Amino acid sequence: MHSAPDTLPATILSAETIAGDVRLLRIRPEFGFTRAEPGSHLSVALTLGGLDRIRSYSVVNDEGGAWTIAVRRLENGRGGSRFMAGLQAGDRIQVAAPRNHFQLSGSSPEYLLIAGGIGVTPILSMARALAKRGRVRMLYAGRTRNSMAFLDDLTALLGDRLTVFVEAEGAVIDFAQEFARLHAEGEAYICGPNGMLTAARNAWKAAGRLPALLRFETFGAGGAREPEAFDVHVRDHNLTLHVPSDASLLDTLARHGIQLANDCQRGECGLCVVDVVEASALDHRCVFLSEEQRREGRKLCACVSRATGHVTIDTFYRPSLARTDLAAAAE
Ligand SMILES: Cc1cc2nc3c(=O)[nH]c(=O)nc-3n(C[C@H](O)[C@H](O)[C@H](O)COP(=O)(O)OP(=O)(O)OC[C@H]3O[C@@H](n4cnc5c(N)ncnc54)[C@H](O)[C@@H]3O)c2cc1C
Repeated sequence: MHSAPDTLPATILSAETIAGDVRLLRIRPEFGFTRAEPGSHLSVALTLGGLDRIRSYSVVNDEGGAWTIAVRRLENGRGGSRFMAGLQAGDRIQVAAPRNHFQLSGSSPEYLLIAGGIGVTPILSMARALAKRGRVRMLYAGRTRNSMAFLDDLTALLGDRLTVFVEAEGAVIDFAQEFARLHAEGEAYICGPNGMLTAARNAWKAAGRLPALLRFETFGAGGAREPEAFDVHVRDHNLTLHVPSDASLLDTLARHGIQLANDCQRGECGLCVVDVVEASALDHRCVFLSEEQRREGRKLCACVSRATGHVTIDTFYRPSLARTDLAAAAE
């Protein structure tokens, strides 16, 4: 299960806007600096709406005893990115040392790096590590050129091994074509919005490639539409709750004493999946369920996915089993 990382005080050394709504922050921990391998992220402890929260940010540089991160300001989020984007030099925050859930292997015959939007941050550190030593190409997609952070750095680093796809200029990645050019045992690393990830996974599967060689990281809960408030009836607890637009189903259940197992809290691990008994409409935002499971509409990842209108769920809570467990534990 997800454990809250230990955090230490750190100081913002500098803060600047580098592209559109992306702020670059250099952060120096007051104790115990550690280097960050490619793909690592920092965890920052915040208080949002009165609740203790963690927000993660990939380390784009770790030179000079400080970590550098790049934060895209999201207006429709719960406030973490707005807080981070508002930080100035001299401000103090609480951070945990870098952790890595998106490791770069050292053994692939060819690497294909793929970034969408702010998903460029872990990919940039990988590009730096691979530029000199490996066979590497990179595909970088964004809405407009001005909104794409680190475009100049990546061009200088990779030259013609970088291909840029600007949506406003009508360019989109053709994953089937790109994967066809990749060495048969080559690896792809992708970080970007869920839609991009789904397209890449479908093309990877259609190309008959080994699933383990497509590695990805998602940044969270971005959905196809704005989060809406909805009502949830929890059948096994006989309880009806209102989920506000700025809270997740998982958090709302927890606030009412219904604790679901959970870990990643970004729709990847599937631990918090609940059964859907009936729903007006579902708004799936996870990458854990397959397209077929989403279409069937019988499961929902409570950490990120939502409903519009109402939904009836079953969380597998069985009081008779719980009583048996408690009795067994007491013996
Ligand atoms: C490993 C990792 C690395 C990351 N690296 C970076 C990075 O380098 N740079 C960066 O900018 N970000 C990064 N992120 C994302 C970052 O941690 C935050 O999620 C981001 O800053 C948004 O935080 P927030 O509180 O503003 O928004 P959140 O509340 O987390 O909202 C994020 C998204 O969820 C949707 N959403 C908002 N509220 C709800 C709701 N109630 N129910 C469902 N969906 C909702 C919004 O539409 C929004 O698109 C990373 C995340 C992870 C896990």
